[in-house]
Parts: sequence; C-alpha cells; structure tokens
Amino acid sequence: MTPGIRPLIAGNWKMHGLAADGLALARAVAAGATAGADLVVCPPATLVAAVAAALAGTPVATGGQDCHAAAKGAHTGDIAAAMLADAGARFVILGHSERRAAYRETDPTVRAKAEAAIAAGLTPIVCVGEPEDDRLLGRAEEVVADQIGGSLPPGFGAAGGVVAYEPVWAIGTGRTPTEADIAAMHAMIRARLVAAFPAEGAGLRILYGGSVKPSNAAGIMALANVDGALVGGASLVAEDFLAIAAAA
Ligand code: PGA
Repeated sequence: MTPGIRPLIAGNWKMHGLAADGLALARAVAAGATAGADLVVCPPATLVAAVAAALAGTPVATGGQDCHAAAKGAHTGDIAAAMLADAGARFVILGHSERRAAYRETDPTVRAKAEAAIAAGLTPIVCVGEPEDDRLLGRAEEVVADQIGGSLPPGFGAAGGVVAYEPVWAIGTGRTPTEADIAAMHAMIRARLVAAFPAEGAGLRILYGGSVKPSNAAGIMALANVDGALVGGASLVAEDFLAIAAAA
C-alpha cells in the first residue's frame, strides 16, 4: 500500500466469458463489492457493453483488454479506444505480456495505444514485467525500467495512468516473486514514475499481477508501493476476486 492511494483491483478475464456467465460474474462482483478498493472488471470485447450496462450504478467499473493506437480506420478486427469508451469502459489494459508475445507489441506500440486511450478518456493500465531468463540473469529491474521508459506517454501522469507489474513467469503459473523482490521492483517503478511525472508520480497506482489469489493477496498488498492487483485466473470466480479486494 501507499498511504493516500486508494487501491485498485482489476480483473482480467482474458478470453473467457459468454453472455450468460459473464454477466452473472459481473453481477456477483458488484453484489459483493465493498468500499475498501476500486474495482474494475475487464471482459472480452464482445461483453464490454453488456457488462458496463449491467454494472451501471454500481461501484464496479468496466475495462477493455486492448485497443488500437489509431482513432479509426482500416484496421479489420481491431477496436479503437473511443469505441471502448462508447461501450461504457473506463479503463483499458495495454501491453499485457500475452499481447507483447503473441502480437509482438513493442514499447512504442504500447505507448501509442496508451496515448490513444488517454485521448479517448480511458485510464490506461500499462503492463510491464520481465521474462524468467532476465530474472535469473539478474536483469529484471533493468528490463522493467526500459519498458517503463518506453511504454508510458507524456500524458500518462496527468491522466492518472496505472502501471501493472506482471513478471511473465508468474502469470497463470501459481508462482510469484518473493515479497522482497516485488517490493524492490515496485520501489524502482515508483522512482521512475516520480522522475517522469514529477507532479503526479507519487500518487499513481502500481499494481502487482501474476498468480494473485486470496491466500497470497494480503501479504502482497501490504508491501510498500503495491497499490492493488491485476488478477487473471482468480478474477473468474467472484468470491476469489472479492476476497482479493478485501485484502487490499
Ligand atoms: P493470473 O494472470 O492472475 O492468472 O496469473 C494475471 C494476468 O495475466 O493479468
């Protein structure tokens, strides 16, 4: 936690959810939401509008999982940030390691997408994180510092942008860094944010992601500069997602 920062717990549903189960999950999250943290669920694009409508008037926000960097145009299959906003989204996850790997998204791509998101009024949740090789070689902080330097546009601080530190090797594996390693990485990210955005960096939210579950959430959330979580697998079970939120 960072004193004065309200935690954010974001659920990344990835490619899970048809209308019936997705809406039921969103409603169950809203029904159990408590006041201690901001909550956002990020369903697949097909469900953003329906989930946002179902969550209207509740404290739970809706987010997308990606957007294109262009405002509109000949980009078959892609979704513009303004389309997500129009559908009711307030957040968008960008630069997730699955997209960096599967679609070769680079830091400049992620930065352009974040710019587009901010222009559309969305809050970007920009993901960074090292592959396991870099962790083993002692290069984790260097790799993440480079991603921070390359992925965040100038307007990120003023827009209240969110950084999610997600070590690639911790995603969906049940493995997490030690709490000391998480704290060290988040301290480095905080220092970079303060340097890049002097007016806002101390107040921006830095989430941890990668195998967050009810049993490890309290320990991770208690660490300095951990201001919430980006939750994958456990966000598909309302009780687990709510238990993580309660730990924040
Ligand atoms: P996980 O995924 O919680 O299933 O490890 C996190 C993420 O990819 O955002």
